[in-house]
Amino acid sequence: MKPQVEIYDTTLRDGSQGEGVNFSVADKLRIAEKLDAFGVQYIEGGWPGSNPKDIEFFAQTKRKKFKNARLAAFGSTRKKGVPVERDDQVRLLVQAGTPVVTIYGKTSMLHVKQVLRCAPEENLAMIGDTVRFLKHHGKFVIYDAEHCFDGYKLDAEYSIATWQAAEKAGADLVVLCDTNGGCLPNEVSAITRTAVGRLNCRIGIHTHDDIGLGVANALAALDAGAVQVQGTINGYGERTGNCNLTSVIPCIALKLNRTCVPAKSLPKLKELSQFVDEIANLRHNSRQPWVGSAAFAHKGGTHVNAVQKLAASYEHIDPALVGNTRNVLVSDLAGRSNILLKAQELGFRLTKDTPELKPILDRIKELEHAGYEFEAAEASLALLIGKTLRHRELPFRVDAYHVSMRRNGRDSICEATVKVVVGGKAAHTVADGDGPVNALDGALRLALVKFFPQLQNVTLTDYKVRILDTATGTAAKTRVLIQSADGRREWGTVGVSENIIEASLQALVDSMEFALLKK
Ligand SMILES: [Zn+2]
Repeated sequence: MKPQVEIYDTTLRDGSQGEGVNFSVADKLRIAEKLDAFGVQYIEGGWPGSNPKDIEFFAQTKRKKFKNARLAAFGSTRKKGVPVERDDQVRLLVQAGTPVVTIYGKTSMLHVKQVLRCAPEENLAMIGDTVRFLKHHGKFVIYDAEHCFDGYKLDAEYSIATWQAAEKAGADLVVLCDTNGGCLPNEVSAITRTAVGRLNCRIGIHTHDDIGLGVANALAALDAGAVQVQGTINGYGERTGNCNLTSVIPCIALKLNRTCVPAKSLPKLKELSQFVDEIANLRHNSRQPWVGSAAFAHKGGTHVNAVQKLAASYEHIDPALVGNTRNVLVSDLAGRSNILLKAQELGFRLTKDTPELKPILDRIKELEHAGYEFEAAEASLALLIGKTLRHRELPFRVDAYHVSMRRNGRDSICEATVKVVVGGKAAHTVADGDGPVNALDGALRLALVKFFPQLQNVTLTDYKVRILDTATGTAAKTRVLIQSADGRREWGTVGVSENIIEASLQALVDSMEFALLKK
């Protein structure tokens, strides 16, 4: 069934212009497969005329079959003064072998005169010639009207003439682009309505998030009659990014109640968002609407209490609809209900009548006062609750450690020794490292894997240090947050001390202890 709103993904082209985003051909192929499985209608794979990597990508996709999505190659209208059939960039678009070709052209008189520097009529001919040529080659042609809204505000009649030039030449869709991302929803809405009135072909919307309105502007255009949204997963893109598909898709499905991606895909939205972050090697943005880990996190005691009674009281939707989960944050605002919910989430059988609940709560408040933070260190919290409930013995004990550092000419050398005791047996190990914490981590692991070979798989994925009490200078307290993973799970642990090495050791020990817990 045809969806009411089509989703056009440009993560691999516009999204890859974002700061810190760099996809290899293999990365692009994996993301394209994932997007296809998710059920977007179009995947823009790249601009063959701009780089060889994108030519390679399209060469590889020729052998691939996509189930849901149609692949699009992106490019521009022909150059001024060059016949379209002799324009290399346009030729590469045909050779990409995709069913869809998307080209952009100039809408704004300012750009025609000052950037392109050609006669307004030549620009109209460039649009018409290129669309016609691509239609001749059997392509489904999407025409992106660059600077559409800004151009319209400057010279409405000329803008309309550019859209009509594309339509007359056979464009299947005209997409209105807020290229600079500075328009307001009411402007987008009014101009889209005009386009719907003046064109017979279908209208799409392509927005950027420069003033935080990328998604709002896309929704305004849909409300005014547009039927296709272009955007990127997690809002990647130049400057502040593109319209975020991870937000606009659930808005369309759950707020506008229009069909877009298959209904069964919506609960996989968070997974898709995390997958793309993972491939891009970017840290997941916890405050991202809908799919961020904080999107349904509750911290204030009264909120938590209310959410327990009635989930809808402080949640705009059921988080499961987009594959997210309710998350109760533990903090010094924590009431009994937070701890209870968190403990249950971590797998402890705890009720409000468990006598240990109060000592656990007191201990958390005491530690948070001392500078500990458990929001990103659930593993440390789980260990704390476990210890208070006396569920188990400590698997190991660090009896002694020593860290030394010296400088030898240009190189600084760090060495650590650790003495670990496990059930009456001791292990004494030495390791060196790039820095004192790295050396300590090495020595601790070396000692522990002798007793627990499964720790071999544990890796340290992130290490963060924060100085807590800046007024006291070097004697300030240091909080260390460590993120670890073993291929199946990822967990965070925390340590606090006036000594950074000691704080790091606490977090490292917690990490290893947690890794030894069976789950
Ligand atoms: Zn763009």
